[in-house]
Amino acid sequence: MTGRPEDHEGANGRESEPDPGPGHLVTGHTHVHAGGIEAASDGGPAEPVAIGPGVIQIDTLLGGWRRMTAGYLVEGPAPVLVETGSQSSAGALLAALEHLGVGPGDLAGVAVTHIHLDHAGGVGDVARAFPDATVYVHEKGARHLADPSRLVASAARVYGPLLDELYGRLEPTPPERLHVLADTETVEIGPGRFLTAVDSPGHAKHHLGLHDSVSGILFAGDAVGVRLPDAGVLRPATPPPDFDLGEAVHSLRKFAARRPSGIALAHYGLLEDTEALLEEAEATLRSWAETAERALREGRDIAAALEERYRFDTSHLSAEFREKLEVLNGFHSNAEGLRRWLETSGRMAAERASGAPQPGS
Ligand SMILES: [Zn+2]
Repeated sequence: MTGRPEDHEGANGRESEPDPGPGHLVTGHTHVHAGGIEAASDGGPAEPVAIGPGVIQIDTLLGGWRRMTAGYLVEGPAPVLVETGSQSSAGALLAALEHLGVGPGDLAGVAVTHIHLDHAGGVGDVARAFPDATVYVHEKGARHLADPSRLVASAARVYGPLLDELYGRLEPTPPERLHVLADTETVEIGPGRFLTAVDSPGHAKHHLGLHDSVSGILFAGDAVGVRLPDAGVLRPATPPPDFDLGEAVHSLRKFAARRPSGIALAHYGLLEDTEALLEEAEATLRSWAETAERALREGRDIAAALEERYRFDTSHLSAEFREKLEVLNGFHSNAEGLRRWLETSGRMAAERASGAPQPGS
């Protein structure tokens, strides 16, 4: 497969904005078996779990994999679901909501932290199943939910067959059901309970955090990174085409300033030592960016440099699990996002002007 970040750009160079990009995955370095990913479907839907007062974690079972992608139901008179997962997850998600007693007329809102397909691919299907639900999204993502054609075409170029095998696509949401959330805007769930939107670009331009006033939990999407319970290591998520270090760090500090009681990652689950987590996230991001910058200056392969430095001990994990991790948050995707950021942010031009060594010199 030949997905390159350039492919995310609109075919027309006069487009004011590049395509949002489909998310973490840059293929070509993962090992997909004919007939699809070897999913670890170990039978039966995962049980939803309460992670705070009126906050239910739902495993959306991307690819049949447990503990990779989560959605969160915030309960109250007007309950809101945060993240749908991919379209391929819609069946598992809808079954979980039914199990929780959420009937077709009950869900008041669906909020997506950003429009990458592993977070928002199921929105059209979920909106159809819950006809009264308002769909909340960042202003830079809204038009892609109303008309997903460019997003899906971009994803198809990058993912190839994996798009349908793993993620599925994205059904349009009627524009009148979309509600664009501005920074600090609130979504009321009940008396005294609301979600506050936190504009948090960096991972993607169209990224929002959502902070629950009752539990204190902040739903962080991918802005803090990826930390799968089965891996136990926090990795930044720096995919093309939007990744920007300065914005990502600024977003982490906005999260910290809200003093959340917990941070719920889409990949995956609740972490309670939020101050330490956000500090670790910032340090990790800066460290990965430095490694990428040095590799680029020295004319080395960025992904290889990242892998050399940050490969963690995975000897206790199965080969299958390592493959999943590479699909969801691989070195190659992160390297492409960092390279693109370095090349477009002016940093490398500044280095050249100051007489820093050139690649290959
Ligand atoms: Zn994600």
